Formats: sequence, C-alpha cells, structure tokens
Amino acid sequence: MTTRIAVTGAAGRMGKMLIEAISKAEGTQLTAAIERPDSTLIGADAGELAGIGKNGVAVVGNLTEVLDDFEVLIDFTAPQATLANARLCSEHDKQMVVGTTGLTAEQRAELQAHGSSTALCIAANYSTGVNVCLKLLDMAAKVMGDDMDIEVYEAHHRHKVDAPSGTALAMGEVVAKALGRDLDKVAVYGREGQTGARERETIGFATVRGGDVVGDHTVMFMAEGERVEITHKASNRMSFARGAVRAAKWLSQQSPGIYDMQDVLGLK
Ligand code: NAD
Repeated sequence: MTTRIAVTGAAGRMGKMLIEAISKAEGTQLTAAIERPDSTLIGADAGELAGIGKNGVAVVGNLTEVLDDFEVLIDFTAPQATLANARLCSEHDKQMVVGTTGLTAEQRAELQAHGSSTALCIAANYSTGVNVCLKLLDMAAKVMGDDMDIEVYEAHHRHKVDAPSGTALAMGEVVAKALGRDLDKVAVYGREGQTGARERETIGFATVRGGDVVGDHTVMFMAEGERVEITHKASNRMSFARGAVRAAKWLSQQSPGIYDMQDVLGLK
C-alpha cells in the first residue's frame, strides 16, 4: 500500500530534502506540495524545486486546495504555520508529522490537543541516531546522573532562529525526567559574570551558531576524575528527512494520539 504524502514548506531546506526522501522511499508518494501563499514558487514543479527532476506535483499556496490529495502531511515550517495546519489536519482526519521546532509551551499544548482527533508524530529530531542517543541518555542519567554535573552543548548553522535547539531541549528533558527533576526549574540557559559555584541539580545549556553546521549535540556527565560524553553529529539533513518519511508511513497505520520518533522506532 502506498502512503500519499503532502509536504508543506516545500521550498525550505528540509522541504526539498523531504521531497527527495519520499521519491527514494518504498511505499510512499508525494501527492501535494505547499508553500507560503506569497511565495514566488507557487506553480513550480516540486521535483524540479528539489533538484530531482520533474514529478508533476505543482506547488500550491494553501493547504485547503489539496486536502483531498493526501493522507499524511509532513510539516517542517514555522510555529504559526504548523498550528494552522494542525487545525486543518485534525478537522479533516489527516495524520501529521511535525518537525517544526521553537514552539512555546502554549503552542505545544495546542498542538497536542489535536491528538484527540487525529494521529500526530511530534519530534524535535527525526534522525535515528539522535533517537538512539536519547535512549542512551536515559540509561546514563539513571545509573550515574545523581553523582555528576550534566551539561548540554549544541552547535547549528548561522540561519537557525531558535535556541537552544529543540533536540538539546529534548535531551535535557530526557535527563531531567530520568532524575525526577523539572527541567523548567533546573535549566540554566546562559552564564555570565559572578555566577557562583555550580549547583549539582542544574542542567546547563551552551549554544554555538555559525557557518553551515547541520547539527552537533553533546551531553556531558562530569564528575571528579571522569567524564562521559554522548555525542551526535549530523553532516547532512537527509537523516532527518528519511526519519520523517519513515514516521509518515508508520503514522498512516495508527489511531488518533500523540506519538514521537521513539514510538516509530519501537524504542519505548
Ligand atoms: P527553512 O526556513 O529553510 O524552511 C521553512 C519553509 O517553510 C520556508 O520555505 C517557508 O517559506 C515555509 N513556510 C513558512 N510559513 C509557511 C506557511 N504558512 N505555509 C507554507 N510554507 C510556509 O527552514 P528549515 O531549515 O527547513 O527548518 C524548518 C523547521 O524545521 C525549523 O523549525 C527547524 O528547526 C525544524 N527542523 C526540524 C528537524 C527535526 O528533525 N525535527 C530537522 C531540521 C529542521
């Protein structure tokens, strides 16, 4: 059975990768491509846009124009656009793979509420490697986290607009949850001046932005005499796109609810 997929944000860095990944995956077909209504690329061929040759799917400027053409929407755009699309998907019984990061707590809650009417997969990072790292972090935190200082470092390209990255926050959440801490209370997002000595319970975040770094993440567990580092480095966005397409295929078989990449990979 073929899963018919729509990609919104089709002209974006991830949108183009997704179009290519769908063309290479077994059992999936790109049947709609959407961009902002004011985009100069409306009407363009989505395959040509992604550099894989014509595929006959014209980019449209509004999701409502193509609601009959797909089963699962993959959305890597921006928070406001993602929320508007989630409302449409839940009203019209479409599944949705959400890759957009930088949502506020209220926006996340609004997105998750749609899980009562349709199936959504929400993940800050769709790469298989990062999701295996999340599992390793849970184990490391449970075994040794209470006796160590824990810090999260991330680096991304100069165009990224939110910080820390959604993946860094997801890593912090996994560690905090494993240790019974509330990340909102223990996170330290920057240090400057007379900060005082580090408190054991805190989880620090350090952010670097520059160049074309696709995404580096390291979580450090530090104690007297030893340090454990769990690192993931993405060198290409295709790992995220492949994971999102895998999630779309999996999601098409699920009942309404909120899922993440750990569910897709069977890591729970
Ligand atoms: P980008 O700016 O290159 O692309 C975003 C695209 O969305 C643009 O083409 C823009 O025109 C389009 N867009 C914005 N509003 C729209 C609307 N209302 N309707 C249709 N299209 C709209 O950004 P990017 O690097 O592709 O990243 C997009 C998002 O995905 C960011 O939030 C980023 O952090 C996130 N991301 C997530 C993962 C993951 O694995 N979860 C991986 C990479 C990026």
